[in-house]
Amino acid sequence: MSKTYFLTPGPAELYFTVEHHIKEALKTHVPSISHRSQTFRDMFAHTDTQLRQLLNVPSNFHIVFLSSATEAWERVIQNLVHTHSYHLVNGSFSRKFYDFAVELGKNAQKYEVEEGEGFDLDSIEVAHENELICVTQNETSTGVSFPLDDLAALRSRYPDALIAVDAVSAVPYPEFDFNTFDTLFFSVQKCFGLPAGLGVWIFNDRCVAKANELKAKGLHIGTYHALPALLSNAKKWETPETPNVLNIYLLGKVAEDMNRRTAQAIRHETNYKAVLTYYHIAQHPDLEVFVKNEKHQSKTVIVANVLSGNAKNLMNKAKEYGFVLGAGYGKNKDSQIRIANFPTHSKETFEKLVEVLAL
Ligand SMILES: *Cc1c(COP(=O)(O)O)cnc(C)c1O
Repeated sequence: MSKTYFLTPGPAELYFTVEHHIKEALKTHVPSISHRSQTFRDMFAHTDTQLRQLLNVPSNFHIVFLSSATEAWERVIQNLVHTHSYHLVNGSFSRKFYDFAVELGKNAQKYEVEEGEGFDLDSIEVAHENELICVTQNETSTGVSFPLDDLAALRSRYPDALIAVDAVSAVPYPEFDFNTFDTLFFSVQKCFGLPAGLGVWIFNDRCVAKANELKAKGLHIGTYHALPALLSNAKKWETPETPNVLNIYLLGKVAEDMNRRTAQAIRHETNYKAVLTYYHIAQHPDLEVFVKNEKHQSKTVIVANVLSGNAKNLMNKAKEYGFVLGAGYGKNKDSQIRIANFPTHSKETFEKLVEVLAL
């Protein structure tokens, strides 16, 4: 069978070393070891070290594990918001983050722009009562990214509010400055190319203080996955529940592989593949780049309008050559394609892809 390239933005193609690491994990009984054993603690510590190096996480930030990014939305709101949160919404994922805040009974405000658009910093007005500002750094449904400079500007404008960053379909691509936000989270089935079922939640001591403050006020901030419970366990390299041990192991191994390659090299390749793809979409008679403002064009999830309105046709043709493209999200299913540009996808894969698209 010839190779199939999954250019879907999650779940995505596995990172190219994952098969090897899964085999090793089975040989060394990783799925059977106790999560209260020293072997597990060493594994957690290894994954923590590798992630800190890859993402440049400073020592005043803590790393804990959840089941998904969807869970992170709930945990972030429960643990960091008493009454008011503010949300930048420009697609389905950022909207769900907002919806969770509403569902949890918070007084959530949103600033919403059209799909395909980013935010003009000057029109963002966060009222004083908002305790948390929620930013989706890479809106996977529309391929719009939030520039890192804007994150820094937001931080300096609103130093008192906590800032949460959903970075699911971006890490490890963005060169984040952790001084520009208080918490960041992601799941592993996108850029890390791992099987789904693990979320990573990174937060600083301001978040710890806030969660403890809410708890002291008698607010319900969750049970086994409340921030203080996750943190006290993580300090012993443990987790409250029996976690996804296999994925924690695999994440450590893949992060180590990525560190060996260096985050900088991954960024360079990602940029090359993105430039190539955006260029060829612009040249294509039946395609058009969806995100018009270059500053907001995602490098890791590239979205194109299919002018004929028949995305299926184009996707089927690509599939004949082994390329599985992502469909448009939600209502854009028939009129758009989404192309994942993740670390596992080689330059050669993308050179071949743009040739196939042009056929
Ligand atoms: C995929 C995605 C999520 C949800 O991730 P799960 O692992 O399915 O919970 C959240 N936010 C963004 C931006 C995403 O791309």
